[in-house]
Amino acid sequence: MLVYDNRLSGVRVHAFSTGQVAVKKPYRQWRGVEALRIPALVTSPSWTEWLPIWSYLVEFPDMKVLIDAGETPRVNEEGWFKERTKNEWLLKRLIRFKIELSQGIGAQLQRAGIDPRTIDYTILTHSHTDHAGGLSDLAGIPVVMSRKEFDQSQRFLLGAVSEKWPSGIEFKLTDFPDTDALFKGADHSLHPQLSLVSTPGHTDGHLSVIVRDGELSLFFAGDVTFNQSQLADKRIPGISASFEHAYATMGAIRSYALYHQTIYLPSHDPDIITRLDQRKTLTRNEVVTYTGQRPV
Ligand SMILES: [Zn+2]
Repeated sequence: MLVYDNRLSGVRVHAFSTGQVAVKKPYRQWRGVEALRIPALVTSPSWTEWLPIWSYLVEFPDMKVLIDAGETPRVNEEGWFKERTKNEWLLKRLIRFKIELSQGIGAQLQRAGIDPRTIDYTILTHSHTDHAGGLSDLAGIPVVMSRKEFDQSQRFLLGAVSEKWPSGIEFKLTDFPDTDALFKGADHSLHPQLSLVSTPGHTDGHLSVIVRDGELSLFFAGDVTFNQSQLADKRIPGISASFEHAYATMGAIRSYALYHQTIYLPSHDPDIITRLDQRKTLTRNEVVTYTGQRPV
């Protein structure tokens, strides 16, 4: 679905929801002691409503990039996670998918008349299955991700199923500085209007993508938060690998949005269509209260 079309600059964004996901409610938002979050997530009986799994295609006049590949319909096949039994046991208790065969990214690109061979890069915000599962439809397109995320996905990272990725992928791995509070170590090498920034928290190697279109910054935030109010209210997702990094990342985005007109676009937020359509940027009120301190 074409959700952003600037005829003057030629920047266009298509959003494809590759099915739906539900997670345990404390997975989306957690208030409590960090160390208790995983047992709480596993045992919680309450699930969120069904949420989208966005894969974004960004078109510049001279380049096309896909931001996240979404989930593959094959995720519900019996034994899909079986090579990683710990993954299978945990994932079934944390996350559910509802995906039709027609909702895989390959099928959706085809219906939209977009030849995958014209896509220059697939950028992964992180390697979790609901962001990387669709790689199986995108063989031949170079994959961009952070080196830290790649390394963890090849060893063990809860939620990543890298053994199902197609063989022969050409990876372009980005190294970020260890701490990068104001995105000073951004990688601008793919396109002059596109920056990769380090946004750890959900996973250690998580990145976000900033696309600049004139005065506007489209901030593709992956799973930094599930929605915009979480960013504005400093509410942390329970699934974060590190609460400290997650808070620092939210602070960095809020600081960025204080100085740039920023449309915030996480991967599981149903409101991104309205936000892009109406060019709704983060307001000063939503970001100015951040003090740089971890909230209590
Ligand atoms: Zn996700």
